[in-house]
Amino acid sequence: MLIDNTSIAIVGGGPAGLTLARLLQLKNANVKVYERDPNKNARVQGSPLDMHENSGLAALRKADLLEEFKKTFRPGADKTLIMNEQAEIFFSDHELKPEEDFGAEHFRPEIDRGPLRNMLLESLHPETVVWDSHFLSMEARQGGWILHFKNGTSAYADLVIAADGAHSKIRPYLTEMKPIYSGIIMLEGNVSKEAAPHIDALIKGGKIMAFGNSKNILLGQKGNGDLGFYASFKADENWSVHSGLDFSDKMQVLKWFKIEYSEWNSIWDELFENAQTPFIPRPIYSMPLNQSWETKPNLTLLGDAAHVMPPFAGEGANMAMLDSLELSECLTNHTYSTLQEAISAYEIKMRKRAGIATQESLENGERMHSEKALVSMLKFFNGHITS
Ligand SMILES: Cc1cc2nc3c(=O)[nH]c(=O)nc-3n(C[C@H](O)[C@H](O)[C@H](O)COP(=O)(O)OP(=O)(O)OC[C@H]3O[C@@H](n4cnc5c(N)ncnc54)[C@H](O)[C@@H]3O)c2cc1C
Repeated sequence: MLIDNTSIAIVGGGPAGLTLARLLQLKNANVKVYERDPNKNARVQGSPLDMHENSGLAALRKADLLEEFKKTFRPGADKTLIMNEQAEIFFSDHELKPEEDFGAEHFRPEIDRGPLRNMLLESLHPETVVWDSHFLSMEARQGGWILHFKNGTSAYADLVIAADGAHSKIRPYLTEMKPIYSGIIMLEGNVSKEAAPHIDALIKGGKIMAFGNSKNILLGQKGNGDLGFYASFKADENWSVHSGLDFSDKMQVLKWFKIEYSEWNSIWDELFENAQTPFIPRPIYSMPLNQSWETKPNLTLLGDAAHVMPPFAGEGANMAMLDSLELSECLTNHTYSTLQEAISAYEIKMRKRAGIATQESLENGERMHSEKALVSMLKFFNGHITS
């Protein structure tokens, strides 16, 4: 096998890095994952993720983790309400949605990010993940790389695989292309269900997408009952600085919300009044659709490090995990005679696929933040208008 006697460093322990580590360990590869989080108990932020049949679930199936996933996913969490700013319901699939049906294209089971990470971590050999390893730089040495971390340690690897997310510090070793700002900010918050009883009564364990005045509120209920939510709107890239807001001060953020979302019903206020702080402003980026770079024999990228995926098509984690599946196959399937050939085959296919998904996601983002967002999103959801 091409990677026999090859030490592999995966930098970043998100969905991409951990899935790849699992898939490679199943082929007896020598893998370490260097993750900046201090330990396995670090809180994983963000909304639940829906897994798609031909990408995220395909990778889990190949990783022999589908049965474990079935114990961990959240039945019913994919049920969706579409609302306007007055919290009137225009679409609901709570009654219509078919039962769980693994293997069916339409079935997109949801899992919280923390349990997904734990499931992947538990599948790895002990000591695979080197925590508190914040990658800073690397230099070429003996055909491979010496990696340097913030805690003062260094490590050698024959092959480095960057899975360090949207702001990858490794991408510049391969390409000068930088993420492009989409024009959209998602302000992330989290609130317990007890502190947001009116929204809790509506969401019933699923998701809400609310559209009004070219702005959105997007919510998903997590396994512990908390409501993870995003206020999503168009603003300049440095809005978090220009707004002058202290994101640890919920009264300031509530005041901002009441002004910026002034046409919105006061039912939404409880999200902000009672949120845990700090709120996290997330400017949304993507990579150019037609990226290319010269393949190296000892370095490649996957997941958001390769193709920062805007979240408007729910493809980010799915594309990241499909990258892991395709890269692991190219490295282990005996089709290629050199690492460079194997990496090149993976990169060509990955860039094309990611470009298509990015375009779809950007188009959805525009649709969701347009004046006619509600109408077009209802059409998009196959016109299933129920009220
Ligand atoms: C607001 C928002 C909502 C989203 N919603 C969805 C959704 O519903 N569905 C979906 O599929 N996708 C969604 N996404 C996209 C999804 O989160 C990403 O596409 C996915 O997490 C990418 O996985 P990854 O493993 O490549 O990167 P990440 O999940 O970003 O993981 C990167 C890992 O690398 C570590 N790391 C970073 N820098 C370093 C460093 N220098 N050294 C060492 N370690 C480092 C990080 O701590 C992290 O563990 C959303 C994204 C955003 C911003």
